[in-house]
Amino acid sequence: MSQSQPAPLLAVRGLSRIYAARGLGRGSTTIVDDVSFDVAENETLGLVGESGSGKSTIGRAVLMLPKPSAGTVRLDGEDLTRLGSSGLRAARRKMQIVFQDPYAALNPRMSVGAFIAEPLEVHGVGSRAERAETVADLLRKVGLDPAAARRYPHQFSGGQRQRIAIARAIALRPRLVVADEPISALDVSIQAQIVNLLMDLQDELKLSYIFISHDLRVVRRICHRVAVLSAGRIVELAPTERLFVDPRHPYTRRLLAAIPLLDPAAERERAARWRDEAPDGHGGRGPLVEVAPGHFVARAEP
Ligand code: ADP
Ligand code: MG
Repeated sequence: MSQSQPAPLLAVRGLSRIYAARGLGRGSTTIVDDVSFDVAENETLGLVGESGSGKSTIGRAVLMLPKPSAGTVRLDGEDLTRLGSSGLRAARRKMQIVFQDPYAALNPRMSVGAFIAEPLEVHGVGSRAERAETVADLLRKVGLDPAAARRYPHQFSGGQRQRIAIARAIALRPRLVVADEPISALDVSIQAQIVNLLMDLQDELKLSYIFISHDLRVVRRICHRVAVLSAGRIVELAPTERLFVDPRHPYTRRLLAAIPLLDPAAERERAARWRDEAPDGHGGRGPLVEVAPGHFVARAEP
């Protein structure tokens, strides 16, 4: 399955996460089931789906946190699932994760400067003085005063804490950032600022994102393509505008129908259209089929 033209930065194939059920003879639970997707350089791939559909599990598995039960994850052509601990440590410089709750991610007893410098220190980047310079630069990049380095997390607001977490995430100049609900815990008034910051950093640092969110309006605004996850499987994957304008899978339609339209008549029209158009053999949990360029929909089970 080829989803983007040049060799992608990230290529995930057949990714699965299976948990052994507790107790003898209980079998196992498949949380993520045979998931494949690419992320191109400088691209934002949205990952959407109901709570519990496996979004965070996929985001973490891409970073080998922990290694998936099956499948391959190639970053710049290198299969991360085959790396030992030292290879993984090196590969981890290229990918970072930003979580929903910036307070939980920060260490309350560490100054902001020490927290941001920690990955640099772990990887032996620069002298102490050079790292302090880098921290000041990173703080400026995320819109904070370099003087913040001497202060502690509790002295900052939620939005500022997320800026601090982002500064640390970009300290090692990663290629890929998994942003797992990075704005869900923030005040609505702050959310747009953090989204704008992520977009500015993408331009400046040529970052790729896996953007996990249940805010479909933000997803539509910032993602180039979107994968829709239902109970551990991708049921639809398409360029963003195609997905929002012409969703084919009933699950995607249900998800999108939750976005209110300004005009109630338009809303009724949309509901009728999505109800009446038969999904022509699509709409199951089977393999993905390309129905239009770059637009994949899961077929009925084989
Ligand atoms: P999402 O991020 O889409 O809300 P998650 O990836 O966090 O979903 O979780 C997917 C499913 O995996 C959930 O049903 C969750 O209960 C289950 N799960 C997560 N961790 C474990 C675990 N350690 N053992 C068993 N099931 C787990
Ligand atoms: Mg999650």
